Order: sequence, then structure tokens, then C-alpha cells
Amino acid sequence: MSVLKSRLVGVVVESVETVRYTYRLRPGAQAVADLEAEWHRCRFLWNEAVHQQKSGSRPTFGKLSTMLTAARRGSAWLREGSQVAQQQMLRTYGAALNHSFTVKGRRRPTFKARKKTLPSLEYTRNGFSVRDNRLALPKGVRVPVVWSRDLPSEPTSVNVYQDSLGRWYASFVVRRQTATLLDGGGEIGIDWGVTTVANTTDARFDLRYAGHRKRCAAQLAKAQRKMSRRHRKGGKVQSNRYRDARREAARLHKKAARQTQHDSRVWARRVVEGHATIAVEDFKPKFLAKSTMARKAADAAIGAAKRELLDRGLRAGRKVVLVQPAYTTMTCSECFARNKRLDLDVRTFQCATCGYTAGRDWNAARVILAVAERGHTSVDDVRHGRASSGMLVGAV
Ligand SMILES: [Zn+2]
Repeated sequence: MSVLKSRLVGVVVESVETVRYTYRLRPGAQAVADLEAEWHRCRFLWNEAVHQQKSGSRPTFGKLSTMLTAARRGSAWLREGSQVAQQQMLRTYGAALNHSFTVKGRRRPTFKARKKTLPSLEYTRNGFSVRDNRLALPKGVRVPVVWSRDLPSEPTSVNVYQDSLGRWYASFVVRRQTATLLDGGGEIGIDWGVTTVANTTDARFDLRYAGHRKRCAAQLAKAQRKMSRRHRKGGKVQSNRYRDARREAARLHKKAARQTQHDSRVWARRVVEGHATIAVEDFKPKFLAKSTMARKAADAAIGAAKRELLDRGLRAGRKVVLVQPAYTTMTCSECFARNKRLDLDVRTFQCATCGYTAGRDWNAARVILAVAERGHTSVDDVRHGRASSGMLVGAV
């Protein structure tokens, strides 16, 4: 979050924000073995905490810390690992347990099974350093880092983790200076769609659907066919050739997801830089609904774009308004009259009351912006002059 906030309009203000910078790691065989051993020790402690919770005692971080001290004294195996990583694991557990009581929809922390969970280790400032371009972890573990860009400041903590493809990453928490342009007058309304991911009131900021998933769909289908051909039924151990095919499918999937995320980042940055007020359709993805591949891919692209936009908008101190999707396509952006529902193939909106004609998506984006401009979060609230019932995400 920005520390220095300015209400000045039309100037460049410097602000400090806390962000994550993530780099690929290239650990050697020894480092991989060390990281995995570290993970298993931390996992053991997590599972121990879960066990305590299940057997009736509510394990606070304080109690867990005491338990850790005693456990390390009695076990040479635990002492071989880093105390910082083990403490952080229990701290994470404590937070997860608290959230399970206070955050709606959050469940109690569960056991981390050896084969089903991916390693994730957390080190605070006194548990790691960057030496000779390598990440230096406790107990002499040294891991080469691919420095794809410079760290903007001394990192305060690092998360070392492995993804489902077996690649290792280090995610550093850093603070950086940002120059943010506050242009005051800029406002934008955004309506999400299938063929164009984001339709905006200013066509220069529209985000086209790049079709990363579609492009690799053929390769992905091939990999999946290979998987089903090589699959052994009846709970038998799968062959290495099956695992290769599964890995290939996962790699293609990840690649498309990463490209989609990159596009949304670049787009969200442009939108946030140019506008002080951002009105966004509060789209809820419907992955679980029966739908086509195209629809699912579009949902994923919209989800990524929306996440990035909200995240960046709030970090930059923009006024971000989430507008309910109901009636946005049926309402006239000129006179606010509600028209009949448009069929999906009708691309032009025409108002029966005032005769205003515009592209369907452009009209919807204008309605979304108009709702936000009037201090509301849904078309119905504007119509009935009610106080907003929805969510105003953030304001300068
Ligand atoms: Zn009208």
C-alpha cells in the first residue's frame, strides 16, 4: 500500500509500495535434496499442529513456539533444519487457523500429505541473504538465482517454493518507489466479454482476447490423448511415459496461463496509469457451470484481468468501483431507460425511449461508468434512487 499519498491532481507523486519480485531458482541436486528435507521437517510440524487442533487444544502461535523449542531440543532431525523456516511454518499455521474462524468460507487447516502438497518455505530477514548472486539459506544451502531483473531494495522476506512442474522459485518481498501519474479527469468504464476480454468506454484501452489457450489447445489435446492412451487402469502404478505426457500437458497449460497473466498485467498497468476513476463490471467467473472450452478460457482471461486491475488500481490509490452486472446491457447509457433483453447475437443497442444507438458492449461500458459516476454500484440503485448496496472497493 502506498505510504505517501497525495491529493494533488495532475502531478507525478512518488509513493512507496510493498510488492513481490519472483525469480526462477536453479538448485543443484544437493540443494534440491536439502530444500525437500527442509520442507518435510516443516510439513511434520504443520501436521503436528493440525493434530493438536483436532484433538481439542486450540494451538496458538505462542503454544506452538514452546512446542517447537522442546521438539528441537529432543530431536536431532529437527535441529538439522532451519529454526526460522520452522517458526514461519507455525506462524503461517496460526494465521490459517485464525482465518478459519474469522474469514467466511475459510476452512480449518488440513494435513499436508507427502505426495500431494508442493514445497513452500518462508524465511524472514535473519534467515536468508543474497551472497555472490546466490540465495543463501540456513545450514549452508546455496541456490543460484536467475536474476531476470534487479531487486529494487533489500528484501525483507522470501518464499521459496516449487510448482507442479517441479520448478523452484524465490519470491522476495521488497519495497519500491513508484511514480504514479494522477491525471484527475480520467475515468473509464469496463465491461467484460468473450471475444473482447475488456470493453471500455475508451476503445484505446480495450483488451482483445489473445487466445493463448486456444492456440495451444491442439497441442494440449494431443498431450491429453497421449495420457489417456498410456493410462493404466485399476489403481496400478503409472508408467514413466504416462508421467511424461502428464508433465507435457501441465507445462502447456501453465504456459498459456502465464501468457494470459502477462497480457493482463500490461493492460491493467496502462488502465491504472491513465485513469483516476475505474468502474468495473463485478463479473463472477462461472468455471463450474457447464460450458465450452472457449467460455472457460474467456472466464480465465477475465478473471486474470480483473484481479490485476483491482490489485493495481488499489495499490495506486485509484477510485475503483465494482458495479453489479445486472441490467447493464439492457439499460440505455444516454437516458437510463431499461430496454428489452438483447439476444446474444444482437451487437447493436438501440434505445426504444430516446432512440440512442451504439455498439452493445460500448453502451454497457458507458452504463457501468455512469452508475459509478452517480455514486452507486448497481443499475437498480440508480433507477430507484437507493443508497448503494454493493461494494465500493477503494477511493483516493
Ligand atoms: Zn435512451
